[in-house]
Amino acid sequence: MDISAILNELGEDRHSFFGAVSPPIFQTSNFCFPNVAALRSSLEKEKEVPFYTRGNNPTVELLRKKIAALEGGEDALMFGSGSAAVAAAIMHVVQAGDHVVCVQKPYSWTNKLLNQMLNRYGVETTMVDGTLVENWKEAIKPNTKLFVLESPNSLTFELQDLAAVSALAKAHGITTVCDNSYATPLNQQPIKLGVDIVVHSATKYLAGHSDVVVGALISTKERCDKIFHSEFMTLGGILAPFEAWLVLRGLRTLSLRVERAASSGMKVVDFLSKHSKIERILHPHHPSFPQYQLALKQQKRPGGMFSIFLKAENISAVERFCDSLRYFLIAASWGGYESLQYPICTLYDSENYGYTQLPWNMVRLYVGIEEPDDLIFDLNQALEKV
Ligand SMILES: *Cc1c(COP(=O)(O)O)cnc(C)c1O
Repeated sequence: MDISAILNELGEDRHSFFGAVSPPIFQTSNFCFPNVAALRSSLEKEKEVPFYTRGNNPTVELLRKKIAALEGGEDALMFGSGSAAVAAAIMHVVQAGDHVVCVQKPYSWTNKLLNQMLNRYGVETTMVDGTLVENWKEAIKPNTKLFVLESPNSLTFELQDLAAVSALAKAHGITTVCDNSYATPLNQQPIKLGVDIVVHSATKYLAGHSDVVVGALISTKERCDKIFHSEFMTLGGILAPFEAWLVLRGLRTLSLRVERAASSGMKVVDFLSKHSKIERILHPHHPSFPQYQLALKQQKRPGGMFSIFLKAENISAVERFCDSLRYFLIAASWGGYESLQYPICTLYDSENYGYTQLPWNMVRLYVGIEEPDDLIFDLNQALEKV
């Protein structure tokens, strides 16, 4: 199915709702039935039909269909956050006594789940430099059940060769989970490369407007059924109908935003890469990036996020640059309409700093959908303050 059909038509059923072009929001927790037989038959299909909104709600169901189709998967489950989706995917695969291999520097709460929480339940994790397939191979133990990938990650943007790592996993009966938040399904479809479960912080590009926290999990129907009847329904970290509707609205402009992010990001990077105050840039589609060739092969376009290293003498010089930027809001997260900056020196004195091990002169920049020339003007004046 083409992207336009998915975004405009799939699951819409407009003529059941007075031809409403935008779908109704089923703001209800509960659904009732005309007789006992109807109640009984719905209870048997709680994932597929409206029975109780923790399980199925028509507004959320419409979103599930679109997200699954965008990723080229059979089914999807929506969660109240990306972290809930990541946790459900990982917890579904492992049990006490199992071993996980995870890419270095994953999203911070993915790291915490694997290296703190799941240890309490007898699950052990090895972190690897995921850029080389050999490193994954060497980390495999007899009890390895899961590979956790994130390509690229959202600070230093290292990639994994998704096809090669998935093939290795398959040969050893290991399940793969990939966080695809940065690339979006329009630029990279891990399932087509052999990955078993894709997860998203849909808070970022999929919703795209910095107004909702949401997660998605995409896989086969069989696996989604199993996750639904275990982690999904018991932990109950669901997405509310109104928030599902906000994501549906966000998806209508996904192609526009993703294309704009790629072109504006490249334009800004082009400017920065020639500037004397910039030491280095980490952007997967810039020729200076160590995995540039893999990025071109595996990911159709870059995202709008990358990191820069300033030629600064001290943290004060970095802070002067950051505080002088007008359009780049100082904030975490990314994927909305607005440009953002996340200076690593923020973490310098915190316990997180040891975990990231990133230099204090690094600043993560996220290019939103503003005019790229305005952003360049802004960066130029701030760089003069370094
Ligand atoms: C933000 C983020 C998450 C967590 O998602 P939430 O929606 O904030 O819970 C997971 N992975 C990546 C790559 C992220 O950027």
